[in-house]
Amino acid sequence: MSTAVVHYTAAAVTDRGRKRPSNEDAFGFSVENGIFLVADGMGGAAAGEVASSLAVDEVLTRMSNRASAMEPEIAAEQAILAANQTIYSRAQQNVKLSGMGTTLVALLAMDRNVWVLNIGDSRGYRLREGHLQQLTLDHSLVEEQMRLGRMTAEEAARSPLKNVITRALGTQSQVSPDIFALDVEPGDLFLLCSDGLTRELTDSQIELLLGADLPLEDLCARLVAAAKKAGGRDNITCLLVRAALDADVRQ
Ligand code: CA
Repeated sequence: MSTAVVHYTAAAVTDRGRKRPSNEDAFGFSVENGIFLVADGMGGAAAGEVASSLAVDEVLTRMSNRASAMEPEIAAEQAILAANQTIYSRAQQNVKLSGMGTTLVALLAMDRNVWVLNIGDSRGYRLREGHLQQLTLDHSLVEEQMRLGRMTAEEAARSPLKNVITRALGTQSQVSPDIFALDVEPGDLFLLCSDGLTRELTDSQIELLLGADLPLEDLCARLVAAAKKAGGRDNITCLLVRAALDADVRQ
């Protein structure tokens, strides 16, 4: 009798883009611990970089050392809340870091159990059989107005408020991530990305670029190159995670 375990491979690329002087995005992952992260920092001077790096490092460390008895999505939520506290208190202590914050999108993947958690407007997507589906909801003012039917997509695209995000890590003492439990099929490809990708490319352009039969690193590089060609106005980060069957033959 054979049982098939789903295993994961990952690759990521981050790029400053063509306009910004520095890169305030961060990513990190541990295939062994099934945790994959993209963060997009904000704040004056180098504060955005500090916030996004703190978020990624803290969640990665906590998820790598988590108690095995704990439900993984609960452990991930607690790790995110701890990262919020770390960034928030660092900003309180250092005036140069005051007001810093970051988005965070996390994929948690263990065999057939997958969750996406997010705060802010960095996104998670799943490509299945060539079809791209957005998994997260942006915590941004214009997206929330659109979901309430108070704003059209055209109005949102033109709005001077389109950079306003309604939830971020580190800017307040309390925060609550969205948590989505997902099913997984072998062959699924998950994309975590910052808005430097999704502001430059439409979902159908991303879908088309991800359809090529290439190694994950090359797919990441393709997405980044296309976003830069389309303007590259912001930092761009893409992290791809592929689910595949590992034939585990047992007697
Ligand atoms: Ca950004």
